Amino acid sequence: MALADSIEFTFDNTFTEQLPADPDTTRAPRQVHGAAYSRVDPTPVSAPQLLAFSAEVAADLGIADNGASLTALLPVLAGNTTLDGMDPHAMCYGGHQFGNWAGQLGDGRAIGLGEVINSAGERWAIQLKGAGRTPYSRTADGLAVLRSSVREFLCSEAMFHLGVPTTRALSLVTTGERVMRDMFYDGNPDWESGAVVCRVAPSFIRFGNFQLPASRGDNELLRQLADHTLTTHFAHLGDPSPAAYAAMFDEVCSTSALMVAHWMRVGFVHGVMNTDNMSILGLTIDYGPYGWLEGYDPDWTPNTTDAGQRRYRFGQQPQVAHWNLVQLANALHPLIDDTEPLQASIDAFPDLYSEHYQSMMAAKLGLDRWIPEADEPLLTELIGILRSVETDMTIFFRELADVDIHRAGSGGALTAAHYRPEQIDSAYTLRLDRWLSAYSARVRSAGVGESTRASTMNEANPRFVLRNYLAQLAIDDAERGDFAKIHELLDTLKRPYTEQSGREHLAEKRPEWARQRAGCSQLSCSS
Ligand code: AMP
Ligand code: MG
Repeated sequence: MALADSIEFTFDNTFTEQLPADPDTTRAPRQVHGAAYSRVDPTPVSAPQLLAFSAEVAADLGIADNGASLTALLPVLAGNTTLDGMDPHAMCYGGHQFGNWAGQLGDGRAIGLGEVINSAGERWAIQLKGAGRTPYSRTADGLAVLRSSVREFLCSEAMFHLGVPTTRALSLVTTGERVMRDMFYDGNPDWESGAVVCRVAPSFIRFGNFQLPASRGDNELLRQLADHTLTTHFAHLGDPSPAAYAAMFDEVCSTSALMVAHWMRVGFVHGVMNTDNMSILGLTIDYGPYGWLEGYDPDWTPNTTDAGQRRYRFGQQPQVAHWNLVQLANALHPLIDDTEPLQASIDAFPDLYSEHYQSMMAAKLGLDRWIPEADEPLLTELIGILRSVETDMTIFFRELADVDIHRAGSGGALTAAHYRPEQIDSAYTLRLDRWLSAYSARVRSAGVGESTRASTMNEANPRFVLRNYLAQLAIDDAERGDFAKIHELLDTLKRPYTEQSGREHLAEKRPEWARQRAGCSQLSCSS
C-alpha cells in the first residue's frame, strides 16, 4: 500500500503465515500454548512526534531518504495505524533470566508489524517497541519511556556503524502520552514521556522462542519454529533435517561468538544477556541497561539490577554467551535426538570466540595477525596496565596509534586516557614504558611500518562511541524538548572511526560529575 508517493512496501510475513497463531486476539494476560505468537494491534497515541530517524535504515526499507517520507509514515511508526499487508503480532517466547528459567515471557511491549522485502530481495522485519500492551505484558503497561528509547535508537545505530552485528532502528517517536516509572526501583515513581522506537532486523527470533515450546514438551511447535527459521533465515543449510538443525545451531554458535568478540573489541556491555535477549541471528538485541566501558574494568556492569552477582559484567560476556548457547542446544535437542553434533558445536565455542577476539585484538594493536607466543603475554600485560590505573579504553587504544612507540619513554603521550593523574607514579610509568618497548619490538619484527600500524588501528579502534554520559546529556535535553544532541550524536556515530573536526567534545573522557550520576554509568532495568 502507498501511504505517500515514495513509500511502497512489499510484505512477505513468513513468521505469521508459517507458524500457528494464538486464536485469542484480546490483550488479556495469559499463558499461550501451541502458538508462536498472538495477533495484537498497537495502541493508538495522542500526539506523535518524529524526533529522529535513520536515513540508512529507511533506504534499506526502500523509503526515500528524506524526512518527508518518514513524516508521512509517522502514524504507522507511532502505532496509530497499520498498512495493508502488515500483520501485527507479539511473539511468544520464554527465557532464562539471570540464570534462572523464567517460563513464558513473550513480547510484552514489542509488536511485530510484518516483513518487508526490499528491491534487493532482502527481508526486514519491522517492529514497534513501546506500542502498548500485549498478552505478554503481564502486569506491565507495554510502553517505553523517552530515555530508554533514545538509548536504544542511538546505540543500535552506533553499533551498526562500528561494524557490530545488531538490530537496527528506523525511527524515534514521542507519543504525547505520560508513562509512570520508578526509575530507581526505590518507591518513588514519576511521570515520564512515552516513546516508540521502530526496530528493524531480518528476524527478531530469540533463543527463548525455542526454549519455551521445548520446556513444555511441545515438539510439534518446536519443529515448526525450527523449520521456519531454517527455511527463511538459514536456507543455505538445506531442507529441514536433524543434520540441518544441527548445522543451524553451529552457525548460531559462530555468529554469537563473533558478536561478543565485537562487544569486547569496542568495550560494550550488554547488561542483560538473558536468553530471551539473544538473537538467533547473532545480532545485538534489546538495548536496556547497557553501557560502554570508560575505565577498562572487566568486572564492570552498568546494570544496577545485576550489581550483586555481576553475572553480565564486561569480562564475563563470552562465558555467558556460551552458557546461553547450551540452553539453546538443550531446547533444540528433541529435534536432533543426538547430543554429539550439538556438543561438538558447544565445545568449539571457546576456541572460536578466542580466534575472533585475538584477531580483533591484533588489529587493535596494528598487527596483521595474532602470534600466540608473542601476543598472549603482550596482551596480558597490557590488560594488567589498563587495569592498574583508571584508563579510558577507547581513548587509550585510539591514542596508541599516534604514539611514537619506537622512541624510548613515549608513554607520556597516553595521559589523555587517564582518569586520575594522582595514580600515575614512577612504577606505572616504568611498567608502561617496558610494555611499549616490547610492543615496539613486536611491531618491528612483524615488519609493520608506522603508517600501516596507525591505519590498521584506526579501523579497529573507534574515536567515537556512545559514551554513557553523552547519551544522558542528549536525554536531558530531549526531555526539555531539545533534540539537537540526539541528531549530533547520530550523525557523529555514523563515522566512528573517522576524526571529525568540531566533534572533539564527543570523544572526551567522562567528566567527573558523571561518575555517579544515574543514567551515566549506572542504570536499572526500568525503561
Ligand atoms: P527485557 O528485560 O527488556 O528483556 O524484558 C523482559 C520481559 O519483560 C520481556 O518479556 C518484555 O517484553 C517484558 N517487558 C519489559 N518491559 C515491559 C513493559 N513496560 N511492558 C510490558 N512488558 C515489558
Ligand atoms: Mg528483552
